[in-house]
Amino acid sequence: MKRIRHFMRSSTARLALTYIAIIMTMTILFSIVLFMTSARQLDRPPKFEHNALDARMPPATHEAFESLLNRRAEQGKAELLSALIALNLIVLIVGSGLSYLLARRALEPIERAMDDQTRFISDASHELRTPLSVLQTTNEVALRKPHLTLTDAKQTIEHNIVEVLKLRALSDSLLELLSPHAGNATQANIPLHNIVSEAMTTIIPAAQAKHITVEDTTPNITVFADATSATQVVRIFLDNAVKYAPERSTIHISADTTKQYILLHVQDEGPGIAESEQDAIFRRFYRTDQSRTKQTETGYGLGLAIAKAICDKQGMTINVDSTPGEGSIFTLRMNTQR
Ligand code: ADP
Repeated sequence: MKRIRHFMRSSTARLALTYIAIIMTMTILFSIVLFMTSARQLDRPPKFEHNALDARMPPATHEAFESLLNRRAEQGKAELLSALIALNLIVLIVGSGLSYLLARRALEPIERAMDDQTRFISDASHELRTPLSVLQTTNEVALRKPHLTLTDAKQTIEHNIVEVLKLRALSDSLLELLSPHAGNATQANIPLHNIVSEAMTTIIPAAQAKHITVEDTTPNITVFADATSATQVVRIFLDNAVKYAPERSTIHISADTTKQYILLHVQDEGPGIAESEQDAIFRRFYRTDQSRTKQTETGYGLGLAIAKAICDKQGMTINVDSTPGEGSIFTLRMNTQR
């Protein structure tokens, strides 16, 4: 991070120097042209017309008048030169400040993106390290046993497979987060029931294992969305609902319609989410204190971040309404039929 900051700082300085170099080149060129043109005008010998005044003027006065004009011309050039030098100095001082500010403004979004990327890489590496360390330890322990029985070996392999599956889920999530399904060209009118039933298929085994009932009361309506994306978001909601809700509870899937939107709700009877954490749960790798401390609920805090990334890309929105101790309602807002 420090190195990036240093790099950005020197880049800002370099960009500011480029700006000021351009400004100064233009100002100096302008000053030179202005000075040369004015000097030529001032150096031009005075032409006296043979008018009445000229004819009456004695030669001595004529010369004195000419030398006065020459002195005035030299004085004018000197004054012009100092005015131009002063102007260039002012432009240099004010321009340097402005160039620095402009360079900072231009580089700020890049700096933010780089910081974000570094944070993402360090969070991802941290998450990857945990299952890898577990894999390493179990294998080392198994290898150190003087007499590894077939049962021990099978147990180690089973354990390894669990950790490998976790790693795979994590790498899939990371990939999904980096490039969420970009199918806005595939948006179409689709029955809401299709989205819900497709999303439910993958969570049914987990729901059955916890004796959780899933109640679907969505009406027979059509939405305008990309089917894959909408299904994936609903699947993330349902997956979390099953994961965090207690055994033998009920999950309700319902929908409301407004003139422009269809709101799909997934309501659970889980622990709920404190208001202070309701924005943070959509950030990458964020897990509430409650789920971080409970070892039973697996996850990397990526599901809702993926859901949000998909929605941002597909013109949908998500939000949560939750009361700790009572449960949560996650809502997906989709466009109505076109
Ligand atoms: P995870 O893989 O940890 O579930 P998510 O991004 O899907 O990642 O969720 C982020 C966090 O939000 C979870 O760790 C959990 O603390 C909280 N959360 C999400 N859904 C629910 C829910 N239905 N009930 C309670 N807490 C939830």
